[in-house]
Order: sequence, then structure tokens, then C-alpha cells
Amino acid sequence: MKKLTPSIRRALLAWFDREARDLPWRHTRDPYRIWLSEILLQQTRIDQGLPYYERFVEAFPTVEALAAAPEDRVLKLWEGLGYYSRARNLHKAARQVAQSASEETGPEFPQTAEGWQALPGVGRYTAGAIASIAFGERVPVLDGNVKRVLARLFDITACVDTTTTLHRLWTLAGDLVPPGRPGDFNQAMMELGALVCTPRAPHCAQCPLRKTCAALAADTQLERPVRRPKKAPKRQELVVAAILKNGRYLLGKRPPAGLLAGLWEFPSGPVEKGETHEQALTRIAETTLEIQIEASGLIATVQHAYTHLRVTMNVYACRHTAGKPQANAHAKLKWVARKDLSRYPLPKANHKFLPLLTV
Ligand code: SF4
Repeated sequence: MKKLTPSIRRALLAWFDREARDLPWRHTRDPYRIWLSEILLQQTRIDQGLPYYERFVEAFPTVEALAAAPEDRVLKLWEGLGYYSRARNLHKAARQVAQSASEETGPEFPQTAEGWQALPGVGRYTAGAIASIAFGERVPVLDGNVKRVLARLFDITACVDTTTTLHRLWTLAGDLVPPGRPGDFNQAMMELGALVCTPRAPHCAQCPLRKTCAALAADTQLERPVRRPKKAPKRQELVVAAILKNGRYLLGKRPPAGLLAGLWEFPSGPVEKGETHEQALTRIAETTLEIQIEASGLIATVQHAYTHLRVTMNVYACRHTAGKPQANAHAKLKWVARKDLSRYPLPKANHKFLPLLTV
């Protein structure tokens, strides 16, 4: 490995200089913008994440602007990207950094990976990316792309999901990072995984590392990385109540922790064994909202996939008939006019039936 390191570094950096995509955060050393790009683009394709990055930079050009924004505004801009805890942690961390600001120096960003890791929502990968790109610290990154490239480059036969192999991959990645241009090298590894060493059909003929790639030599590229078999996702059937009163719909804000925390939603709940949809709606309205409702018809049946869960949502138009709604399962409740629903950050699954609401 030691013998190969210089040629791997040279080949990869030369390739990156030629082939790197022109992305807005590659034109800056501003740690805030690099941090934003890393958080927004985690587990997201670039074409999907880029508009979010542009929207965030426009709405919150500085860390102080982000820190000063109300949480609903941050969640609204994040809407559709999923993994909402990332947005909440980013917001929390921005507040911490903004608090460090003095009039002379402005906000003080951490300058090392260790310092970044102390902020909410910044793990070892994100910390390594920001510290190497913005501050030139010689630290590695290890995301899904880099894992795949390393597992193939060194033809690693062990499962990459175990702690031992992960530790080995971090060490390999760390040894490869050159003292000069560590940020470019890390980006080059990720870029190679995204553009050339792709999961199902790696373009080995165009790869700058083909001469040193052990998996290519052994013809095992498609068998690397070795992954733990995925568990089948759970399935859940839900009823969703679009409860109408005086031309307004009842929305609930989800509690501050857990799945989709802080987002607004139409009241919903699981259908229990042996229950009809109408019975489930009545039970959920009585137990969680302490109101009476009357279901007047199915609006839509919507499928939605979360990481470990596949839900079927049966959305019903409902009429409020009695009682003052209580926020037992929510942080708060609000009656919202149809035209104002789009102002609230709603889960992606709710957007699937929003256009079908007639009032
Ligand atoms: S030669 Fe093929 S398998 Fe090896 S790193 Fe390059 S693209 Fe990946």
C-alpha cells in the first residue's frame, strides 16, 4: 500500500483537476458554505441537493442569518429533502457558532475536525470534509462513495458494515490523504465514487486508478464492497384525517424529537387489527385530539417510503362535529385555510395528497 500511495494520489488529483464538476461550493473557502453543502448533500444526489443549497445560501447568506431564523422557516426550506434532524441540528449548531461572534472577529468557526465534531449533527465524515476543504487539515473522509472506492481499490473481502472493517477503511483513507491538497484529494475520492466507480457499473476503462486497482485485477469489482444483507422494511397502514371546520383544516405540529420532528401534519394514526378506516379515524380523533369527527369520503391512498418503513396512507375528508381539539400528541394545533397550507413545513408524504384537497 505504501508503495502505491504516491501514484494513487498523483493519478487521482490529476483526474480531479480535469474532471471535477463545477459546483458552487468548490469556488469558496467559506467554512459556512462548505458546511452547508456537506449537510445538505448527505445521502442526496447532487442534482437533487443543489437547488436546496442555492435556496439556503440566498435565504441565509451567513451563519448569523441562519441562527436568527425561526425553526419553521428552516424546516420549510428543507421540505422534501428528508432526514429533518439534519436541518434541526444544523440550525442548533449555527446558533452555537453565531453565539461565539464578537464585533471584531465575527463568528468563530472551529478550524479542526475535532472542533467541528463537537457541534450538533457533525459526525466524523462531515468534520473531516469541512476541516480538509476549508482549513487544509490532513484528515480523511469516509462516505458511501469512498467506502466503495477503497473496498475495490484494495479488494477488501470483509463486510464493510462491521466496526473492524470500518476502522480499517478509516485508516486506509487517512494514509492516502496527502499533506498538500487534502481537501481536493477527499473531494476527488468522493467524485470518483460518484462518477466513475459507481455501484452497479463502474467505468473501469476510464478510471485513473485502474493500474493500481486490486478488484479490477481480480475481476471482483461487482462483488465489492461486501455489505450486510438489508432487512426488509416494515409496512404500516395509516389513516389520515383532513378535518375541516369553517373552511380551515386542522394541522398539528409534531413534537420536537423523533421522526419528522417539528414538522406540521394532518392528524393520522395506524389502523389497528380488525378496525375499519372509519373506526380508526374515530378512535384517533377521540383519543389523541379529544374531538368527534365524521369521515365523509376517501380523498386518496398514498404510498410513501421511509428508510425502514413503507406506509400506506388512506386520506379521508372529515367534518369536525364536536369538541375543542387538544394537542396531546402534538406540540401545538392550528386551524389553517387551504391557501395557507403551503406556508407550513409538511412531510413529503402530505404533499402527495395536498393538491387533492378541494376546499
Ligand atoms: S478500476 Fe474500476 S473498480 Fe477499480 S477503482 Fe476504478 S472504477 Fe473502481
